Amino acid sequence: MQDLKVTTKMATSTNLSGAIVDEFKSNFRGQVLCADDQDYDDVRIIWNGMHDKKPALIVRCTGVADVIDAVNFSRKNNLLVAVRGGGHNVAGSASCDGGIMIDLSLMKGIRVNQKTCTVHAQGGATWGDLDRETQVFGLAAPGGVVSTTGIAGLTLGGGLGWLRRKHGLSIDNLISVDIVTADGKFHTASESENADLFWGVRGGGGNFGVVTSFEYRLHPVGPMVTLCAPWYPVEMAETLIPAWREFMKTAPEELSSSALFWTVPPSPHFPPETHGKRVIIFAAVHVGAVEDGERITKPLRELATPLIDLSGPIPWTAVQSAFDPFFPKKVQLYYFKSRYLSNLNKETIDAIVPLACNPPAPMILIAIWHYGGAMSRKSPDETAFTGREAPFLLSVDAVWNDPQETDTVVAYARNFLEVMEPYSTGGMYVNFAGLGEEGEALVRSAYGANYEKLVALKNKYDPTNLFRLNQNIKPTV
Ligand SMILES: Cc1cc2nc3c(=O)[nH]c(=O)nc-3n(C[C@H](O)[C@H](O)[C@H](O)COP(=O)(O)OP(=O)(O)OC[C@H]3O[C@@H](n4cnc5c(N)ncnc54)[C@H](O)[C@@H]3O)c2cc1C
Repeated sequence: MQDLKVTTKMATSTNLSGAIVDEFKSNFRGQVLCADDQDYDDVRIIWNGMHDKKPALIVRCTGVADVIDAVNFSRKNNLLVAVRGGGHNVAGSASCDGGIMIDLSLMKGIRVNQKTCTVHAQGGATWGDLDRETQVFGLAAPGGVVSTTGIAGLTLGGGLGWLRRKHGLSIDNLISVDIVTADGKFHTASESENADLFWGVRGGGGNFGVVTSFEYRLHPVGPMVTLCAPWYPVEMAETLIPAWREFMKTAPEELSSSALFWTVPPSPHFPPETHGKRVIIFAAVHVGAVEDGERITKPLRELATPLIDLSGPIPWTAVQSAFDPFFPKKVQLYYFKSRYLSNLNKETIDAIVPLACNPPAPMILIAIWHYGGAMSRKSPDETAFTGREAPFLLSVDAVWNDPQETDTVVAYARNFLEVMEPYSTGGMYVNFAGLGEEGEALVRSAYGANYEKLVALKNKYDPTNLFRLNQNIKPTV
């Protein structure tokens, strides 16, 4: 092939010899794509329509050997490297302009061990893939609330979903990972093997290597669970949020809940007279017996007269994909950013409500994630993840369609979080970090007391910062 113009790790431009690429291709089991290949444009697309990045090479790995070759090839040729799992990250870090995308999306192998209640899943699987396989056995691992999200990025950042109070974060259920580090070496990391690396991958993102396989502990869940989803007029938010907060103080850990400010979509599933109305939804999922779930969630459905009520028994796989239609690939623009809240008292609510009720684009979702239960029982230094001690996380999940609205929407989200600063513990969830535009300051504030330990690990496992397109921990060697 012809020589390729590529971007290096240091963001400079250079030529990569076609002969070197041909040699790499000759051993590679998966696909290697360049701009003039037929599949290139379909494959390079990532979730957030804000990004239209064009890597010089996309290497579609089929197994550990491909990942090792891809890492060695990238390092030897000094290429800018992006690693793609599910491609969901709103910062667009799964791709890059002119560099190499190490794409794991073909690696979706999953094997459940029913006897030990564990599962091995390859690094390109999504939560939908995992739920499909584990639910055959009536089991589930704690993941996210949108089924198209990759298990890789979500888990490496922490992993918040409907099982967080009963079974903890995704990382709290991780038994081991298989990982290829920047030197091209393969490791298994667990509590008993490469324990320092295992600490780092549980919250430290993609900083330490390419995870080829995740091993999770599974729990009996479903197949039917109880969804609680009353939609109240947003004018009631100020009075209903304290009632939800008090209810959640004594709710069983089988119930995880978030308060969501949203707008009724113009969908035939909703009464036409409600379309376009701003609402507050006290969304909750109960994963114990369905009879208990209906009884336990009843008070949340009777806080007032809901405009819409979608509550009821529902298959676990359906609840896990309920949000999917509203977060499609590429056709919408996304900017999700967050702050931990130190409380949800009157002053905090008064600061949230006016902004949450009046977004510049209707489908902007403001979520108040209630924490507690299993996820809060681990100590803050037990894993690299930070924020367990916070009672709530506020995330501004901005979704819009028109690129001309981008500046207004992003300014709204940033301003919202600035307004929340006095009510915050100071940190944020690294998986909801916007475009990561604050760079090192963001990462330092997000990781707080765990930051220095992460730097030491980065110095050990990736001293030249090969894996830099992430919430980047900069090495200091
Ligand atoms: C619609 C939507 C819903 C979401 N819902 C939730 C939710 O419910 N709970 C929650 O916690 N988060 C949620 N998130 C945030 C999500 O956790 C992050 O966006 C996460 O990065 C997505 O993982 P991915 O593999 O799909 O992303 P990618 O964009 O593929 O990867 C993100 C980063 O992770 C790293 N990475 C990916 N794969 C690997 C790998 N195999 N090895 C090493 N590093 C890797 C890379 O650094 C990469 O840049 C949501 C995001 C979106 C857009």
